[in-house]
Amino acid sequence: QRFLSDASDDTTCSTVSSSLFGYYRVAVIGESGVGKTALINQFMSSEYMGAFDINNGCLDDDEMKVSVMLNGEESMMEFIEIEDSKHDLESLMVDAYLIMYSLNDLTSYQIAVENLHRLRSDIGTDRVIVLVGNKVDLARQRLVSVEDVKHVAEEYNCKCTEISAGINHKVDELLVGILRQIRLNLNPVIT
Ligand code: GDP
Repeated sequence: QRFLSDASDDTTCSTVSSSLFGYYRVAVIGESGVGKTALINQFMSSEYMGAFDINNGCLDDDEMKVSVMLNGEESMMEFIEIEDSKHDLESLMVDAYLIMYSLNDLTSYQIAVENLHRLRSDIGTDRVIVLVGNKVDLARQRLVSVEDVKHVAEEYNCKCTEISAGINHKVDELLVGILRQIRLNLNPVIT
């Protein structure tokens, strides 16, 4: 089961940081129209998260950053939107990649899988990648099967999830899931 699990951790809203546990950058990659802007806007207006200016604690809507309190530790997450699939993805100084496609657009999915293949070949397994299928609200227009996505995610050692940025479905879970994965990746639990 490689879907991101539901956010069960302690997540609260915060607008002022006393001690910041990490500043992480996340690239949101996908073809035009898949919903990158809609998703980032939902992250910014999440009822659980506070977007604030790291310098003085003021709200700042222009910055694509949110503070997320997870398990008693606050982190800042910055999102960078990337549309050009020819972009040099591996050289981006980011902690995680969200590779987005739209469930009703097969081409966007094929390009997402190409990007996933290219990224894993270039960066290996040391950075977090989440394959994000958007527009799950358009169920009757679905062209990408859940089984296929799970298979691809397994093959490329990444998480996958289906969301709707449009109706804010599973968006908070994704935000918290990315942070959890980044923290786990940087501080692996030794068993
Ligand atoms: P971008 O080009 O990847 O940044 O895509 P946008 O965020 O601009 O979204 C493209 C179009 O898809 C817009 O008309 C959005 O309103 C619409 N859209 C985005 N997310 C969803 C969704 O989850 N469901 C539906 N039905 N439409 C969406």
